[in-house]
Amino acid sequence: MPYFDHNATTPLAPVARATWLRAQDEAWQNPSSLYRASAQVKIRLEAAREKFAILLGDAAERYVFTSGATEGANLVLAHWARTLPADTWIGINPTEHPCVVAPALALFGSRIRWLTVDAAGVVNVEALRHGNQLGNQAGQIAAVVVMAANNVTGVLQPWGLIAELCQNAGVAYLCDASQWLGKLPAGGIGGGGFVIASAHKFGGPKGVGLLKLAPQSEGLRGQLGGGQERGLRGGTEDFPSIAAMGAALAEAEQKKVFMESERLRWRDDFERELTAAVPGVRVVAADADRLWNTVALIMPFAENTRWVPRLDKRGFQVATGAACSSGQAGSSAVVSALGFDVETARRAVRVSSGWDTTADDWRGLTAAFAAVAEEVRS
Ligand code: PLP
Repeated sequence: MPYFDHNATTPLAPVARATWLRAQDEAWQNPSSLYRASAQVKIRLEAAREKFAILLGDAAERYVFTSGATEGANLVLAHWARTLPADTWIGINPTEHPCVVAPALALFGSRIRWLTVDAAGVVNVEALRHGNQLGNQAGQIAAVVVMAANNVTGVLQPWGLIAELCQNAGVAYLCDASQWLGKLPAGGIGGGGFVIASAHKFGGPKGVGLLKLAPQSEGLRGQLGGGQERGLRGGTEDFPSIAAMGAALAEAEQKKVFMESERLRWRDDFERELTAAVPGVRVVAADADRLWNTVALIMPFAENTRWVPRLDKRGFQVATGAACSSGQAGSSAVVSALGFDVETARRAVRVSSGWDTTADDWRGLTAAFAAVAEEVRS
């Protein structure tokens, strides 16, 4: 069944499955226990940490394994809530994932400044650069959150420029790389401030992710209790899942090198053919740089909850564009954040392919959209 909801979650990659099973057999003990078998697991855990540091950049000791991006976002925001001067702001890209927006609202409330974005949702770096906005003085933005790639539209953010800008201004930066990793090159993305990511977005198991610490975050250690992960996290390290995450990412990095340009072409062909087959359909942020796998559509009529089940009946699994849940009804928060009214946001459908999606799958999806359009219209 052609699966077009990879931004919600991916199937487990065979290499990740094999790695996970082997590690469950050979290295299942708690890496933090004191017997010899544990010490062996600990060595392998530290080797996995090195692997991520090599793939993403920065020092291995700044990599912390978490249960996913949501945990990482909560850790960083809670750290900022404790440590940033009370009269400063945090600047957040309005199209962030709810795993960032919800804790930010809970912890910072009226101290949030929503960053200026263009019509595609790309953060305006010049607006950030000018006007002495960034800094640690009263009224300035002392921390910034901008994702690498958007989960609904696939729009890419200038995270390298933002990281540099924040570093020069001495302010903290959190980059949610959940949708970037495994699709675009990992190299360098760990070099900036805080980075969060999630294995199940790139062929790894669900329930494991990583948090790369910023250089200025040493104070985070020891504050949350627990001796694991160098004082950052009290939970048992899940070595089999961490190893599987590493195997999945390493494989995706290779696919990226050989397969990306063709995948970009298939995405563009789909958009062109769909707009011809279903008049009035719009691609959100059509002209922006986007992930090769993601297309956010505004359907010309009928709410997304009428399209998604009908496409499913024809064998195609797509999403409504509301958070990461294909079954979730209603308007897409990201599409709303781009200035679309609620009625329009309710017509958003997100399509997200994977490395194994074929050109035929894309063509089949176009035909299914055309057939459902007839059905829904009548
Ligand atoms: N950030 C983005 C951009 C996402 O698409 C998701 C998907 O759910 C998350 C964070 C949450 O990740 P996790 O499931 O690991 O908590």
